[in-house]
Amino acid sequence: MAQVQRMSRLMIKTLRDDPADAETLNHKLLVRAGYVRRTAAGIWTWLPLGKKVLENITRVVREEMDAIGGQEVLLPALLPKESYDASGRYDEYGDLLFRLKDRKGAEYLLGPTHEEIFTQVVKDQITSYKDLPVILYQIQTKYRDEARPRAGVLRGREFQMKDSYSFDTTDEGLIEAYQLHRAAYIRIFERLGLDHRIVSAVSGAMGGSASEEFLAPAPAGEDTFVDCPACDYAANTEAVTFKATPVDGSAHGPVEELDTPDTPTIETLAAHLGIPASATLKNLLVKVDGEIVAVGVPGDREVDLGKLGEHLAPAVVELVTGEDFVGRPDLVRGYVGPQGLEKVRYIADPRIAPGTAWVTGANKPDTHAKNVVCGRDFEVDDYLDVVVVEAGDPCPKCGTGLKLDRAIEIGHIFQLGRKFADAFQLDVLGQNGKPVRVTMGSYGIGVSRAVAALAEQTADEQGLCWPREIAPADVHLVAAGKALQTELALEVAEKLGSAGVRVLVDDRAGVSPGVKFTDAELIGVPKILVAGRRSAEGVLELKDRRTGEREELTVDEAIARLT
Ligand code: ATP
Ligand code: MG
Ligand code: MG
Ligand code: MG
Repeated sequence: MAQVQRMSRLMIKTLRDDPADAETLNHKLLVRAGYVRRTAAGIWTWLPLGKKVLENITRVVREEMDAIGGQEVLLPALLPKESYDASGRYDEYGDLLFRLKDRKGAEYLLGPTHEEIFTQVVKDQITSYKDLPVILYQIQTKYRDEARPRAGVLRGREFQMKDSYSFDTTDEGLIEAYQLHRAAYIRIFERLGLDHRIVSAVSGAMGGSASEEFLAPAPAGEDTFVDCPACDYAANTEAVTFKATPVDGSAHGPVEELDTPDTPTIETLAAHLGIPASATLKNLLVKVDGEIVAVGVPGDREVDLGKLGEHLAPAVVELVTGEDFVGRPDLVRGYVGPQGLEKVRYIADPRIAPGTAWVTGANKPDTHAKNVVCGRDFEVDDYLDVVVVEAGDPCPKCGTGLKLDRAIEIGHIFQLGRKFADAFQLDVLGQNGKPVRVTMGSYGIGVSRAVAALAEQTADEQGLCWPREIAPADVHLVAAGKALQTELALEVAEKLGSAGVRVLVDDRAGVSPGVKFTDAELIGVPKILVAGRRSAEGVLELKDRRTGEREELTVDEAIARLT
């Protein structure tokens, strides 16, 4: 017997107006339809309907993780500082970490991700190669003090993540675990009904080597990715790479350091560029006082170019050559890690004429330089891979013009290798009796973010519109009329429930049919069944939420259709 949920007893308050601070579709609709409620910036309460959707997603994730042999565990969110000191990430994470002390002054953090603790658990639990490989996972609350919590549950400061970790003795084993996860993620996102692309990614604070992201294309997304229409190449723009070649710098003058201009605000930058200050400033190239000082600023209000990292960690700095940089492909950019600008490595674009590349001063804030020559002023190995961000730029694999799109990062898989195992000396006894260093992978899915991503991809002007497996109910039964219709609707609801259909029945007294229909559209259950005028004769109307198609059916037909 599936659950019959009565609207008259459900804690739900739908809103006609968008919340004042909401910019994205999912944020507006999830709040208006009564799925979530803001508790503080980036901190959300899941109301009954929202909790159901979250649970449905969790169930799919859990089933597919179990299917690849994952063992579910639950680690704490409150973690000792020492573990993150051992990996270096207590400092590396910078402002992203929520840090706290207990009554005795001992230091803790709220876990942003759990590589360290999982490594320690395995070190404690597993001593022999015979007990490997192993995949451990949890579905748990994560904490990150994001610089810009936004778009509702899309970027929370507290959020739900499925994180798993693989442990192997061999590189082949790691690759196998990675492929298992990749396949499981494809199944998960297919079941969730999330349109997604798998793209090459940079591994950021994780370190490690191979890494791919699962991106859900949506205008509200904060990631940009390129996709080749001719081959299988697809990558986050952060990870589009070219190999630069050293050039003969003898004909070029020395490196010139430039004065860093005064702290410009978004308004001054925007004025220089002739664009609205409200424009999305990611990937923006900036020119100040006639000098090109390009920065990618994800929307922050004030930017100190020299201290970019402090404000924007992690952010992207972009640098260009030439005068007219808007829309130019010949830009180069570097990654600013959580620590700020000192993380930026020398960068240059092989397509830029030698002597004209602009670089930022590594380990030297407030410095920009020009006339830097690749191979003369810095080592090829020293600089970061070069990035293409323009649509139409040549595909690094086949040369075809790339397509560029925005997307939401819904999953990320990494081959970590031995970075964390080294930090914690995670060894097991090998076949020959000698210790073997373990190699690891880590794999994340944004479970709460997936709710937002699904809403972004499936909603329309009327409201949310969930795929059946994820919806809070299979059918939304509207009692559209007086007490008689309500009574009939409740009877139908019972029958549907006994047949295993999850029913949300709108049995509210004193609410007009018009309001009930509007709410049904807003709430987004995939089928809407109406007990209206003809219900006394045993005739109901079934409406498809997505297509709007309607048909009249008897109660038995409706049950047959919905089971
Ligand atoms: P982003 O680039 O969006 O900040 P991330 O690369 O920092 O995400 P990971 O460390 O790769 O995130 O974490 C794994 C997954 O957790 C991400 O792919 C994403 O789906 C989810 N996630 C990360 N940060 C948040 C957040 N602040 N709110 C909700 N989900 C998040
Ligand atoms: Mg992040
Ligand atoms: Mg990311
Ligand atoms: Mg990521």
